[in-house]
Amino acid sequence: MRYQNGFDCQGLWVEREEEKELGLKNKKDIEKFGVLNFVKSCRKRVEKFSKIQTQQSIRLGYWMDWDNSYYTMSDSNQLHNWFLLKKYFNKGWLYKGEDVVPWCPRCGTASSKHDIITEGYKEVTHKALFMRFPIKGKKNEYFLIFTTTPWTVPADVIIAVNEKVDYVKVKQDKEYYWLSKKRLEELKGKYEIIEKRKGKKLEGMEYEMPYADMQKEKIHKVVLWDLASEEEGTGIVHCAPGCGAEDYELSKGKFPAISPLNDAGIYDKGYGKFSGKKYSEVNKLVLEDLKERGFVYKIENYKHRYPHCWRCGEELVFRLVDEWYVKAKEIREKLKKENKKIEWYPEYGKVRQEDWFDNMSDWLISRKRYWGLPLPIWECSCGNIEVVGSLKELGEKAIDKKKVNSLPEIHRPWIDEIKIKCKCGKEMERIKDVGDAWLDAGITPFSTQGYLENKKYWKEWFPADLISENMPGQYRGWFNALFWASVTLTGKAPFKAMFGYETLKDEKGEEMHKSKGNAIWFDDAVEKVGADPMRLLYCLQDPSQELRFGFHVLREPQNNLNVLYNVSRLVKNAKGNAKNIEDKWIISKLNSTIKKVKEEIDNLHPHLATRKLQDFWLNELSRGYIQFIRDRIAEEDKNALGVLRDVYLNLIKSCSPIIPFICEVIWQELRKEKIVKEESVHLCKWPKPGKINRKLEMDFEVVKRIIEAGLASRDEKKIGLKWPLAKAIVLGGDFKLNKELQEIIKRQLNVKELLFRESHANKKDISVDLDTKMTKALEGEGYAREISRKVQSSRKKAGLVKEDLIELEINVSKKLKELLSGFESFLKERTNSKEIVISEDKLNKYKLESEHKIKQERVTISFNRVSRR
Ligand SMILES: [Zn+2]
Ligand SMILES: [Zn+2]
Repeated sequence: MRYQNGFDCQGLWVEREEEKELGLKNKKDIEKFGVLNFVKSCRKRVEKFSKIQTQQSIRLGYWMDWDNSYYTMSDSNQLHNWFLLKKYFNKGWLYKGEDVVPWCPRCGTASSKHDIITEGYKEVTHKALFMRFPIKGKKNEYFLIFTTTPWTVPADVIIAVNEKVDYVKVKQDKEYYWLSKKRLEELKGKYEIIEKRKGKKLEGMEYEMPYADMQKEKIHKVVLWDLASEEEGTGIVHCAPGCGAEDYELSKGKFPAISPLNDAGIYDKGYGKFSGKKYSEVNKLVLEDLKERGFVYKIENYKHRYPHCWRCGEELVFRLVDEWYVKAKEIREKLKKENKKIEWYPEYGKVRQEDWFDNMSDWLISRKRYWGLPLPIWECSCGNIEVVGSLKELGEKAIDKKKVNSLPEIHRPWIDEIKIKCKCGKEMERIKDVGDAWLDAGITPFSTQGYLENKKYWKEWFPADLISENMPGQYRGWFNALFWASVTLTGKAPFKAMFGYETLKDEKGEEMHKSKGNAIWFDDAVEKVGADPMRLLYCLQDPSQELRFGFHVLREPQNNLNVLYNVSRLVKNAKGNAKNIEDKWIISKLNSTIKKVKEEIDNLHPHLATRKLQDFWLNELSRGYIQFIRDRIAEEDKNALGVLRDVYLNLIKSCSPIIPFICEVIWQELRKEKIVKEESVHLCKWPKPGKINRKLEMDFEVVKRIIEAGLASRDEKKIGLKWPLAKAIVLGGDFKLNKELQEIIKRQLNVKELLFRESHANKKDISVDLDTKMTKALEGEGYAREISRKVQSSRKKAGLVKEDLIELEINVSKKLKELLSGFESFLKERTNSKEIVISEDKLNKYKLESEHKIKQERVTISFNRVSRR
């Protein structure tokens, strides 16, 4: 078996945290601080936190080969990715493309569409601008156009309408406005409908754009677009193809795309008074300017969900940029085919993964950042591109080979100094981009097992039997990257089974955040409750559901672990055989539990396995068997204690992978008492199930239900279990329970007689009627039993063992003395007394005296130890 832990070490999230630590606000600050210093600082951060995480994981009892974790910043990981990227390039899948992408002006890099889908949207209020653009060749006639990003208006190239939608021309005072019929509500004041037209009939109409002088090519006409919706705004859409992904799609190859922002979100030169201003500033300036120049119909506040940078929280903008992509088209069907072969748990993961593969666009892999995989792409001003697949190849192509040999690591800034000679004679430089960090995580099935260095070893372990990760986000993240790399290099998925789980939330079901104050730190939790209650909580959790975590929620697993621990106190170093029917039952129940647990674990249902084990220790052992053998434990019955010991030890072994700490504590305590020999429970073999008696287990289900109903009935009538009753009548049918089983029920319910009767009600319901008539004999027995229990515990307190004989005096009232007559030998037997006196007057013969109250009666017990039997 090979266990592989790993750390994702590179990418924007590390950079962002380190920027905060260093007090750097943006890329300019980083450049000032120095790329070299920054990269070194990021590495230190990873080293520090991976150490902490390792220690925490060990503290949690997380089973891993902790000395051999992988780090995605390693040279080997980088070089395996170079190898992969070269493969992509040779297949013609890796290309430089122009596209409008979501961009974080603070981080100065593209934010992958993939990241926005799940994590990036926040509700914000923007200004909604209703503009009026004059229609060319008409007098006082306007299109009403809606936008929530005024900064994009100078980049407006066309406006779009939907060909199927009804548009109307309305008259307001002396002016005429076009908008969709469904959006008439946006008009201020009275209006009169003058004309109706389908969108199709507006196509080609030209308008006056307020910033036409800033554009070289002036289009400014109405085009048709399916996505032009009448659900909001005016049904007429402003299109800035360089500032919106859909706008760009619409106009690609037909109309120019104007992208006025630089990578920090600042307007470039050539835009008049907007140049040099940040886009948020331009938003305000455009509003003022348009208002002044009569282009505004109205301005409103507009609440909507808008994408934000998932790492730094800054609002995203859309920019037309050159980025590097890998084509999805050629690989899509292969990925889907391989995904079908994977065993997914929970199963819906497979569907979601396929859904991602179906809808994913080309993979944008470049980031304009520092701490990451240096993309091995060298470019020449002549247009030539070289993708380098290994250090050896780089050494052959580099102008200064020494620089390659003396590279301290495969990172910026060192790698950027290496130049390649182009076939045109000029020098080629590496593009400055680093790779999407998902590339780093995706290549690990190869880098961690020496795919390039020791293929024989790699073959031995590829593909992995199982991988495990938190699911949301990973369909497009890690899982996606694993599939891409592996299907490209081998044609196969890199794992056979995938165990996933949903996210951990706080007790109210809200996401935990440091800033919200609802986050619980691992170190605090483990200090307060220990690791096992957390582990038990996780292991009981259905992985397809979100887990609610908190100290209240932890109470139940804590209590349940206490029950398991408390049973250990009853376990003695006894050897015995299953003599009674309850012994045979608990052994069978243990065996069927172990069998089922093994099955569930094999089926990747750890929560069902854990529930089965917990149910066994709570309901079968503690609330079942131990209650059944209570008297036998008191009598130190070797067989009962022997069975209890065997069952408990097997239970502890079965539980040890799930709750390793408490199991080991129990084991060591039992070891001290010489009940077990093996050094540690974790060095024992996991138990194999023995014989199972289904019929007996089913009978006991009935027995337990009858006892439960009987106890409830006693509860209802407020008659304590200590007081024997004459009869219990079981309603619900004749269950054909044998004598031995009936005896268990009688003992547990403390009744003299048990009767079964068909009930007319629903047969499945078992209820118990109790005959509560008290007789002197029953009352006397109740007291006699209670008194003998008190004596037994007093004997124990005085340090006497079972074999010690005593002389016993019991002082009681006259009434009680009468009730007890006839129970002298019962008491003598039960208390192991040589002599016994029951009297009204105190004789004060013995030293060890104690007073008790039973019901309303005062009882004094005194005794002396005489001898061993
Ligand atoms: Zn950002
Ligand atoms: Zn060249």
